[in-house]
Amino acid sequence: MSAPFSWIRPDPHGIRILPANAWIDPARPVDRALVTHGHADHARGGHGETIATPATLAIMKLRYATSAGAIPVEYGETVALGGGVSATYIPAGHVLGSAQILLEHAGERVVITGDYKRRADPTCPPFEVTPCDVFITEATFGLPLFTHPPIEEEIAKLLARMGAEPDRCVLVGAYALGKAQRVIAELRQAGHHAPIYLHGAMEKMCHLYEDFGVGLGELRLVADTPKDEMRGAIVVCPPSALGDRWSRRLPDPVTAMASGWMRVRQRARQRGVELPLVISDHADWHELTRTVEEVNPAETWITHGREEALLRWHQLHQRRARALALVGYEDEDD
Ligand SMILES: [Zn+2]
Ligand SMILES: [Zn+2]
Repeated sequence: MSAPFSWIRPDPHGIRILPANAWIDPARPVDRALVTHGHADHARGGHGETIATPATLAIMKLRYATSAGAIPVEYGETVALGGGVSATYIPAGHVLGSAQILLEHAGERVVITGDYKRRADPTCPPFEVTPCDVFITEATFGLPLFTHPPIEEEIAKLLARMGAEPDRCVLVGAYALGKAQRVIAELRQAGHHAPIYLHGAMEKMCHLYEDFGVGLGELRLVADTPKDEMRGAIVVCPPSALGDRWSRRLPDPVTAMASGWMRVRQRARQRGVELPLVISDHADWHELTRTVEEVNPAETWITHGREEALLRWHQLHQRRARALALVGYEDEDD
């Protein structure tokens, strides 16, 4: 009889499922990839087969302009991978289409979270706690200092600043996949129904969200809009566009950024952000530890992020944990 969990192996470039000859979120092109979600550090192009949710496959098609070998799996659906391994895709609450993957083999259950959060998000279904033996979690914000405030507070700050500056616009830097649409959907929920102006790089992803049933209200392109029309309005752009020439076409923008990293003042200052908004699509420290308690696995494996404090927390709570030395997973703007 083989050792427990010897069928699943963390390699530096991803997690391998040996009997099925498949990988989870591999950092290099492989014959067969199971992909948790569409962010570029998890969803690379060029695989022979890509098994993912329909929304993740649509996002990958938009980004890589090809859908060769795409195999869709709905939430709650179980697929046989061969070699006695099955995979079930379960909502992760991170971005549209994001999934945890439950692998079952020889009576052993392993859950790979991909990136996730526990807060409500109007753009995707919530994370589901799934009992398992081995829980493989991210730890992007795995330090006690990372506590994300309620998003309603951050959205209220944004709307207050907009109202206070009728001659300027508020320019919000937000990750083009997920963060931008979540901020827009939350603004709509808070009763802001005026047009929101977009950097051209976000247009297609916003349309994709709408195709999957996420209403974003009236969106206009900055490129099609006279400068004066954007006074007193909200404009959304990728974080990389915050400081570049493009923003000169805007009326005296107040620079904001929506990111979990805005908790660190120095990061906000470095980027010249006047209005830091602590909005993250990742679990904060309390969500990470609460999730481990709720899932209650025999063992936790930590994929990427700040793993030291989370390892220590496991020791203090008499829980088994190990850090996996995976490379190439970055969530710098999330
Ligand atoms: Zn992600
Ligand atoms: Zn990630």
